[in-house]
Amino acid sequence: MPLPPSINVVAHPLVQHKLTLLRDKNTSSTNFRRLVREIGLLLGYDATKDLPMATKNIETPLQAMEAPVLEGKKLVIVPILRAGLGLAEGLMDLVPLARMGHVGLYRDPRTLQAVEYYFRIPNDVTDRDVLVCDPMLATAHSAIAAVDRLKESGARRMKFICILASEHGAQAFAEVHPDVPVVTAAVDARLNDHGYIVPGLGDAGDRLFGTK
Ligand code: URA
Repeated sequence: MPLPPSINVVAHPLVQHKLTLLRDKNTSSTNFRRLVREIGLLLGYDATKDLPMATKNIETPLQAMEAPVLEGKKLVIVPILRAGLGLAEGLMDLVPLARMGHVGLYRDPRTLQAVEYYFRIPNDVTDRDVLVCDPMLATAHSAIAAVDRLKESGARRMKFICILASEHGAQAFAEVHPDVPVVTAAVDARLNDHGYIVPGLGDAGDRLFGTK
């Protein structure tokens, strides 16, 4: 089935090369963390390409000029805990002045449904562009729940950044939130019975934090 129009795959060679290193089971936790951060920055670069712009008057050492600047309030980066923290580091490298929110969700291993245990975001989120991030869009339960909560809290302009989506997750997310573009490095064909993306890259949280 063709991907919905809100799903954007970043085919850039550097992103694809780094993704292959991430997928490799022999990649160490240290390198995995560094690669997630680097991919976060590169996906963030793509996700921010249509931010609104204004101009301001500055003086270069040679003359005055009207120069482009980002318009509006600072971005908000919202990692879904805990694996989203790895991607958020790269996004913060890209936009160091961004604000941060956090959404804590875990997957009930039996139902695979998302259960919320933490939610804290800037209270003026309505006026800000929001980048929600989680490396894996697998069943999409967590992503859908996080974006639901953010919308309830007033967020209006969001993008979802992940490293890998499953076809099922991409379709499911786009069906519920067609107004939230997804920026991903790849879309894999399958989900296994435990809700893992196949071929995938394994458990992103465990590989990031060395917990297995
Ligand atoms: N979460 C992960 O870390 N990996 C998957 O493949 C799916 C969900």
